[in-house]
Amino acid sequence: MIQGQCLCGAVQYRYHAELPQSILCFCQHCRLAQGAAFGWNSPIDQSKFELLQGHPYLTEYFHTENKARVFCSQCGSPIYSFRTDLPNVLRLRLGTVTEGYVPAPAELAYQQHQPDFICIHGF
Ligand SMILES: [Zn+2]
Ligand SMILES: [Zn+2]
Repeated sequence: MIQGQCLCGAVQYRYHAELPQSILCFCQHCRLAQGAAFGWNSPIDQSKFELLQGHPYLTEYFHTENKARVFCSQCGSPIYSFRTDLPNVLRLRLGTVTEGYVPAPAELAYQQHQPDFICIHGF
């Protein structure tokens, strides 16, 4: 089981399964949205995702028509994203995980934008 939260703690969640994989994404949207060199996420089954608290704080931002990035409106932590054309799938932001096993990245996306000072083990 995976447990996680946002920075301020208003949003708390549990994921009742193992994380299948993790992905680092160096695309510009992830960099802008995270304020970091890459996004770190994992596709998860929405039916096994349980929001324990903080629903009023979760805010959806649609940067593109079919993809929402969902964050805590109090502290700004990105929690997950979803696509309206991909039902039942969330992409969890793995920096918010506080308990449970997070697998090493199996995939680097948009690697052409990877800063050359960052070396990822196994790639
Ligand atoms: Zn928060
Ligand atoms: Zn990305």
